[in-house]
Amino acid sequence: MVVVMSPDATDEDVARVVEKVEGVGGEAFVSKGLERTIIGLVGDIDSFHHLNLRTLRGVADVHRISDPYKLVSRQHRPDRSTVWIGEPGRQVPIGPETLTFIAGPCAVESAQQTLEAAQMARSAGAAILRGGAFKPRTSPYAFQGLGVKGLEILADVRVATGLPIVTEVVDARDVPVVAEYADMLQIGTRNMANFGLLQAAGESGKPVLLKRGMTATIEEWLMAAEYIAQRGNLDVVLCERGIRTFEPATRNTLDISAVPVVQAASHLPVIVDPSHAAGRRDLVLPLSRAAIAVGADGVIVDVHPQPEVALCDGPQALEGADLRELAQAVRRLPALVGKEPALAPVV
Ligand code: PEP
Ligand code: MN
Repeated sequence: MVVVMSPDATDEDVARVVEKVEGVGGEAFVSKGLERTIIGLVGDIDSFHHLNLRTLRGVADVHRISDPYKLVSRQHRPDRSTVWIGEPGRQVPIGPETLTFIAGPCAVESAQQTLEAAQMARSAGAAILRGGAFKPRTSPYAFQGLGVKGLEILADVRVATGLPIVTEVVDARDVPVVAEYADMLQIGTRNMANFGLLQAAGESGKPVLLKRGMTATIEEWLMAAEYIAQRGNLDVVLCERGIRTFEPATRNTLDISAVPVVQAASHLPVIVDPSHAAGRRDLVLPLSRAAIAVGADGVIVDVHPQPEVALCDGPQALEGADLRELAQAVRRLPALVGKEPALAPVV
């Protein structure tokens, strides 16, 4: 349920609604927009009806949200959101005004490899560094990541390059340690429906990059985001990374239509990962162009100083001329859709 306040409602009017809702055991999420304040209610609808909220001072309208997801819905927050990544004063936006380029190695392998990949990413125009310290591998025999040592490397590289860091967390028990080092937590495709992990990320105090499950519908994906939001964290960025189809030419099929579909349904920013979608270096540039053209709020790609010796996902990692060409696309194309490239923090 949503309470829409009138444009002249005061802070006291808003507080009175929140107090009434909490008084019957409900939760109230206040969103202050440019024009007016909207309060999303979560809890027992019948008890909210008995409150007669429409009669309170400052309340313009009360209506039900028909979507199964509530807090992440555009019915709850009509304007698209911007999520800010990094330390206050040096934050990078991901949202409707910008195209945020995120790049880095699939996995943190060593201090040297991560620093080189981060420098490549920064010179190509990336504003945020990606890199996995905890890797969710299909095989238990594959490289599982450096764990906390990898987080320490990422933190050092953040100091050296100024780039905020997004890194994956695969287990709810690791959320506190990953949140201590990272600027943004990533939840990968294999864990999109790990509800305990989603809730822990919702309580971490850090923004979350939520990848689409490889077999998840858009509604299931938005319901997963709702789990994070419901724990009080609306700083969620969605990432389309390809879904399983009958087509074996690419590792996954990039569902490019998911971008505008999600942007219409949810206020959350949506970015695209062409590297994990295709699994092939030669497709990263064309799919990135498509993502920017369709209106994605960012692109996240794998880069590696020596893809041929990468411990993970080498065949999709960019370097050299491929990366330079992508850097050009990321600089030039956002203007076509009324966006500007998000800038890296100054060092
Ligand atoms: C990754 O980004 O490193 C990753 C494992 O991605 P996905 O969860 O999309 O497979
Ligand atoms: Mn990978």
